[in-house]
Amino acid sequence: MTESYDVIVIGAGPAGYVAAIRCAQLGLHTAVIDDWLDAQGSPVLGGTCLNAGCIPSKALLDSSELYYRSLHECAEHGIRSDNVTIDIATMMARKQRVVGTLTKGIATLFQANDITWLKGHGCLLDNKRVRFTPHESGRNPETLDASNIILASGSQPVELDAAPLDGERIIDSTGALELPEIPQRLGVIGAGVIGLELGSVWRRLGAEVILLEAQDSFLPMVDEQISAAAFKQFTQQGLRIRLATRVVSTQLSAAEVRVHYVHGEDEQALTVDRLIVAVGRKPRSQNLFAPECNLLLDERGYVHVDEYCMTNLPGVYAVGDLVRGPMLAHKGAEEGVAVAESIAAGREISVHGNRIPSIVYTFPEIAWVGQTEQELRTLGNSIRTGMFPFAASGRAHAMEAPQGMAKIIADAETDQILGVHILGPWASELIAEAVLAMEFSASSEDIARTIHAHPTLSEALHEAALAVAGRAIHLGRRRMP
Ligand code: FAD
Ligand code: AMP
Repeated sequence: MTESYDVIVIGAGPAGYVAAIRCAQLGLHTAVIDDWLDAQGSPVLGGTCLNAGCIPSKALLDSSELYYRSLHECAEHGIRSDNVTIDIATMMARKQRVVGTLTKGIATLFQANDITWLKGHGCLLDNKRVRFTPHESGRNPETLDASNIILASGSQPVELDAAPLDGERIIDSTGALELPEIPQRLGVIGAGVIGLELGSVWRRLGAEVILLEAQDSFLPMVDEQISAAAFKQFTQQGLRIRLATRVVSTQLSAAEVRVHYVHGEDEQALTVDRLIVAVGRKPRSQNLFAPECNLLLDERGYVHVDEYCMTNLPGVYAVGDLVRGPMLAHKGAEEGVAVAESIAAGREISVHGNRIPSIVYTFPEIAWVGQTEQELRTLGNSIRTGMFPFAASGRAHAMEAPQGMAKIIADAETDQILGVHILGPWASELIAEAVLAMEFSASSEDIARTIHAHPTLSEALHEAALAVAGRAIHLGRRRMP
């Protein structure tokens, strides 16, 4: 028998589960099909973000930071912390508890909103039908009908022919979140966001970490002043970052991996105990739709959508990592909300807010929103910039974290903020003020005239805004506008 829904969502990551909750809030009869299984083979909600992405990586970053600070920074505070040790199994169990709490939370929200959770694989058929293949053995595939379908199947790691995964020595980001012990020598292919975060975890725990990056610039999407300062910080922490270094092959032996790479004209090799492949992610569009649907993909395998996340098929939407734009949980979630509201309203509703913050959760953290100085100068914009170092922040000193800076870029004529870039402690939280300011088309003067509590890290943003007009208070060398 065919069951009918107002909305079927395929995929329960942050894009899909948020879309489903919003649909249900708006009174739509909603089902979500998701095929994620945890390590015990049980279905869980939350997708990559909760199970193998945002949340477990941040749990390990927090554990490893606590360990590092206990080892290296307690003495400075007069706290004796002799014999600090780390038990990786306990650290991993905590991470898993954090994940479990959050994934169960989504299941509770589904129940509270009367959302049907269908555990298994979903495949889009023609005429707004979906084939659901349950995980449960012995249950036959079913065909379901819906007035609207939201595709939210997310993404998966890009694999590298030069370094095929064996699941033990050569692993992807998921494997790197589950290592059973601290490798003595850890190689990471790709010094992007994921490579840096995972490299930081294991470096703080004591591994020698080397990151091999094919591009010759470091974090090219980040403002150059910030990426140069970050590079220096990471190098001081012992993260060895080799740029313009392309891995061309690997050889596995029982205990180690030999990694061959090209740097300039030279082919060189190094040996590591484990190798993480973190060379990006690709949309998970395979087995998502039957060929007769004629769902349009772009040349890179993303499902093609318009600005309202509508695919080329009427009533079929796509959101999150599966479609163009940054692969970020909060970007997918906002698309999910907009699609749900479009369906309920019967007309297209745009994604609320077009300022998407990006964050790298290293130490110090890197966070930014809007355009970089080099992008704006290339475009020929006339701009003014203000920068304030955390070395001049009382709170950063009290926290023993005076590294980095906050930088604001404003239009030279109108003073409207065009970009905010932060390298520093809690940059991930500080950036929210900048996102809000930009959403409200604020000028640097607006932030400069806003009272920021003392002593807080947010004062760095205030001072950076003052610095745009050359009137930062706690900067020795004043620069006139
Ligand atoms: P996903 O979260 O990938 O979820 C898709 C779901 O759909 C999965 O459960 C999948 O099993 C299911 N599915 C796929 N195909 C089918 C099918 N045919 N039938 C049924 N189910 C299907 N982003 C941030 O914003 N902040 C971070 O700090 C951050 N850290 C990250 C760290 C790591 C290590 C990684 C790997 C990623 C990180 N990301 C982070 C990216 C973030 O995880 C993704 O942007 C986000 O998960 C995308 O959400 P989504 O809903 O589009 O897809
Ligand atoms: P991101 O997309 O931010 O996760 O970053 C992935 C990084 O991996 C990019 O900066 C790529 O340049 C890098 N990369 C891809 N292939 C290779 C390779 N063979 N050797 C080294 N780095 C690579």
